[in-house]
Amino acid sequence: MARTILVVEDEPTLRETLAEALETDGFAVRTAADGPAAVASFREQEPDLVLLDLMLPGMSGIDVTRVLRSASAVPIVMLTARDSEVDKVVGLELGADDYVTKPFSLRELSARIRAIFRRTDQLGSTQLPPLVDLGPVRVDLAGHRLLRDGHEVPIKPKVFELLSFLLRHPGQVMTRDQLLEHVWGYDYPGETRTVDVHVHWLRSAIEPDPGVPTIVQTVRGVGYVLRRPA
Ligand code: CA
Repeated sequence: MARTILVVEDEPTLRETLAEALETDGFAVRTAADGPAAVASFREQEPDLVLLDLMLPGMSGIDVTRVLRSASAVPIVMLTARDSEVDKVVGLELGADDYVTKPFSLRELSARIRAIFRRTDQLGSTQLPPLVDLGPVRVDLAGHRLLRDGHEVPIKPKVFELLSFLLRHPGQVMTRDQLLEHVWGYDYPGETRTVDVHVHWLRSAIEPDPGVPTIVQTVRGVGYVLRRPA
């Protein structure tokens, strides 16, 4: 089965060139011309890698990275302009795997992509399965749904993103600032109270007894930690 690469690039010529080159290399390619289309395509079916232009109109590549990272460990390779040093750093901090600077050679890009796949193959799959059982609920990561006894539990998108992020870091204590940074993004006018409110909502949705939380636990003076029930 060919690996699928989602190419996100607003410039039509470059988008087509990339798609053709990657197809020639044996990859299955899907394309998106802007951020919202990329996110929609990703949610419809998660690709094996995302090749992401940082300079997109409207929703930037940084925004896209943030959204994808909140729900997935998919490898992301950013395409950056030579002068966007800051974006590069932010992108990598947000969890992009690599970047190539425009103009780049297709050969170099292909080599980078292969290197990432070699690395992820060695690591084994660090991605969560699409369905994760968590105490009384089942988390449908691909479908962004929460199920209890087969019925969908209403959950706000941001609360789901918070859950998704915590699920990817089980047993790891997260400060409120870290959660704000990773789930809400740098630009969010950070009020740690926001985190507490969302944790409250999350507990109402997933805990067997929200009054005595056992899955999303408070670490006093530090933050929160998700512990998966045995
Ligand atoms: Ca662009």
